[in-house]
Amino acid sequence: MNYDRILIRYGEMSTKGRNRSKFTNKMKSNIKRLLSDDRIQIEAQRDRMFIYLNGASFEKVKVNLADVSGIQSFSPVVKTSQELNEIKAAALELVKRSMSGKTTFKVETRRADKTFPLDTHALNHAIGGHVLRGTEQLTVDVRNPDITLVVEVRKEAVYLSCETYPGAGGLPAGAAGKAVLLLSGGLDSPVAGYMMMKRGVEIEAVHFFSPPYTSERAKQKVVDLADTLTKFGGNIRLHIVPFTHIQETIHKQVPENYTMTSTRRIMMRIADRIRQQTGSLALVTGESLGQVASQTMESMAAINDVTNTPVLRPLIASDKLDIMEIARKIGTHDISILPFEDCCTIFTPAAPKTRPKTEKVQFFESFLDFDPLIDQAIHDTEIIMLPKKATELDDLL
Ligand code: ATP
Ligand code: MG
Repeated sequence: MNYDRILIRYGEMSTKGRNRSKFTNKMKSNIKRLLSDDRIQIEAQRDRMFIYLNGASFEKVKVNLADVSGIQSFSPVVKTSQELNEIKAAALELVKRSMSGKTTFKVETRRADKTFPLDTHALNHAIGGHVLRGTEQLTVDVRNPDITLVVEVRKEAVYLSCETYPGAGGLPAGAAGKAVLLLSGGLDSPVAGYMMMKRGVEIEAVHFFSPPYTSERAKQKVVDLADTLTKFGGNIRLHIVPFTHIQETIHKQVPENYTMTSTRRIMMRIADRIRQQTGSLALVTGESLGQVASQTMESMAAINDVTNTPVLRPLIASDKLDIMEIARKIGTHDISILPFEDCCTIFTPAAPKTRPKTEKVQFFESFLDFDPLIDQAIHDTEIIMLPKKATELDDLL
């Protein structure tokens, strides 16, 4: 008896009412694209999804599923009828197979079919008793068992498994629409992107790049960051916007303590144009309140003044240590801390205004028409396509 299919449990998606079928369809197509193995078939039901392996390797599929957002947990399962003797026999065989070196177990029954004659308690007993009689060294430990045998009783069949793996949680990639992520080479914005992707948002990334002040390696760093993020959703298009001319112009035009505010405002305007072009619904930044001069509420107001588009700041109330921990977990930390500076670090004034006034920055900018510069930058933008990356086996070890 071999595991021939995988049962997928949805996370909060299962509570999403009328959106549910949209979410499950999205998750199904995400998984299909990711697994890209013709043998594999996927069936999405209301509250569970099944992947039929048809000979494909579970170990390989397992690695890929771990990053699929929308999955709460998944198990390779065997299927039996609702006949109790058949359930018991399958249970014993599965436990025996995962027994090596283990001494304790428990049975965890979930009864989706409420018409089944035994309740969960009675089922746990019946199955557990059978396993105890059929094995020698095992005892029951309900708190901290070495083996947990999960038995799901459903209308059409019963599914059993001794292996359950956590999924990435959240909502399926792309189910919530698209947003433009302002992606620097720093620690915060990749984490902000990841958080939005976990909420089902598809990402278009925009990076502002100022050669020769910033090097090719700084650009490569951002490409690597975006590439890493693809693991958590789908493909990412990275827009590399040449920003040198605009930054130089700002530095000539705007008093030094306001250059940073103005730079951010122009970035927002360009990102918003890219949002329109790509059919995206919002902008996303890595801002966190109080972290640096540009991240006071006054500063955010002055920057936000250029657009009515929602600006999502998933890290606004997070502290740096938590952000760093997520960055480590998702594999962006070591890329972000590489020492190649992005355009902002290089042009950062010695004493940026921490409480800029919107009217003042508007006044400083009013002496110049930035529109043609913005048009030119968008025209010269390079677009890099980053296809979704599969998790490496090493990532999980
Ligand atoms: P990060 O760690 O994301 O670089 P930060 O702490 O350096 O953020 P800021 O420099 O104030 O903070 O940048 C705030 C946000 O502006 C960033 O999180 C990012 O979303 C956006 N941003 C900054 N620089 C760039 C850039 N060169 N290209 C694209 N977006 C940028
Ligand atoms: Mg930065």
